[in-house]
Amino acid sequence: VLFHQNKGADATLVVHPNDHPYDSDLLDVDGQDRVTAFYPKPHPEGSRYRNLVNAAAYVFHPSVLTKLEAGVKADFGKDIFPWLYKELKVYAYNTPEYLKDMGTPDRLSKVEQAISSGKVAQRNLKNPQRCIFLDRDGVINIDTDLIHRAEDFELYPYAGESIRKINKMGFLAVVVTNQSVLARGMCSVTDLDEIHKKMETELGHQGAFVEAIYYCPHHPHGGFPEEVPELKFDCHCRKPKPGMLLDAAQRFNIDLSKSYLIGDSPRDIEAGQNAGVTTIRVKTGHGLKPSEVTPNHHVEDLAAAVALIESLEK
Ligand SMILES: [Zn+2]
Repeated sequence: VLFHQNKGADATLVVHPNDHPYDSDLLDVDGQDRVTAFYPKPHPEGSRYRNLVNAAAYVFHPSVLTKLEAGVKADFGKDIFPWLYKELKVYAYNTPEYLKDMGTPDRLSKVEQAISSGKVAQRNLKNPQRCIFLDRDGVINIDTDLIHRAEDFELYPYAGESIRKINKMGFLAVVVTNQSVLARGMCSVTDLDEIHKKMETELGHQGAFVEAIYYCPHHPHGGFPEEVPELKFDCHCRKPKPGMLLDAAQRFNIDLSKSYLIGDSPRDIEAGQNAGVTTIRVKTGHGLKPSEVTPNHHVEDLAAAVALIESLEK
């Protein structure tokens, strides 16, 4: 409700990522969380989308109700939001907290189990969360160097299963990636969004999701022919600085001392150290380049890193 009020919204939907976006009602938002599109299921073969699932929990300003036709049966997701967002200010509140439909006896018993096991309370953001921060290129996907087109983005074959395990272990999965391709003028924010939609769609097909993607668009040095001057400065977010991890920690109430970072480059590891998380370097991507920086662990790849965390957590 606070989010709804702060945005000055006419209507707010609660959204979350889930492990089956391919058969869920999805939407898209702009950088200010305002809804820009609705994609009711079914989704056309080959479409790419963000994993933003309508959780069917809404906040409305009373004036919105006067817009609805009296005496006509209508479904919010299918009949009302698809036109409402074009006329009014509709925002999406994205949260990793526990939200489940319990409209059948089977689902109800699952929810009861989740309550009694403490899973629901644990995911309440009033309580500290644990997170596995993931670098993108060279960890989740093959690093073909300065990826700037969705066609060039290819997940490692084990990425979906590894991230699914992270989801099941109860950690948040948050991507933190330096994307100087923006500052270098090699691609636009729309192009980068398209790459991330491809990533989320393909992970979704494998039952995996990430709670958030943080990227740093900046680059400290000038001298690239197509560079974007506004993005050329020494920011707080470009790894090895810990800005993206700290921003996520604030948003999700993450206990960094009980969290991990998995990365391939020395600057990932440094960012993790600067944020105070346990660092795991993988040998994929730039993971075998010599470095002065010593991670807590150095393992084969993302799958091995997740297996290591599983064993450390036992
Ligand atoms: Zn930055």
